[in-house]
Amino acid sequence: MGLIEMASGKSIWKGIDYCDKKKVISWECVGAYEYHGLVSGSDGAIYDVHINKEHPKKSTCTCPFAEGRRVVCKHMIALYFTAEPHAKEDFLEEAKRWEAEEEARELEHYHDLEKYVKSLSKSELQDQLLDALIQLEERRNYW
Ligand SMILES: [Zn+2]
Repeated sequence: MGLIEMASGKSIWKGIDYCDKKKVISWECVGAYEYHGLVSGSDGAIYDVHINKEHPKKSTCTCPFAEGRRVVCKHMIALYFTAEPHAKEDFLEEAKRWEAEEEARELEHYHDLEKYVKSLSKSELQDQLLDALIQLEERRNYW
């Protein structure tokens, strides 16, 4: 599993934002798969970040979220995408593809729903509508 696969979506998008805002103050390549860098945090703190692409669990960051835990934080992602801009482009391309697929799935679902509704007789429609309204109301009371 790579750094990206280990990170939460939130960490990835924040990491991209940090990368775009040039929050990575300095970085260097310290091995075939490793980078070390300094990344400025949202509170003005500067975090010491080390990433290992081959063994993501060996990556470290001194921020409160990642310190002492085997997690991938936004500072690691920011460092990774700053050191390897093509990896960021690849990720953004893939995200766009997922979004398009998701939209296509949603559209298909609505078409199926429309087909289903149009296939119902008037009395079936009345029953279904009543059920749906009751469900809506119950949900509203529940929340
Ligand atoms: Zn961090």
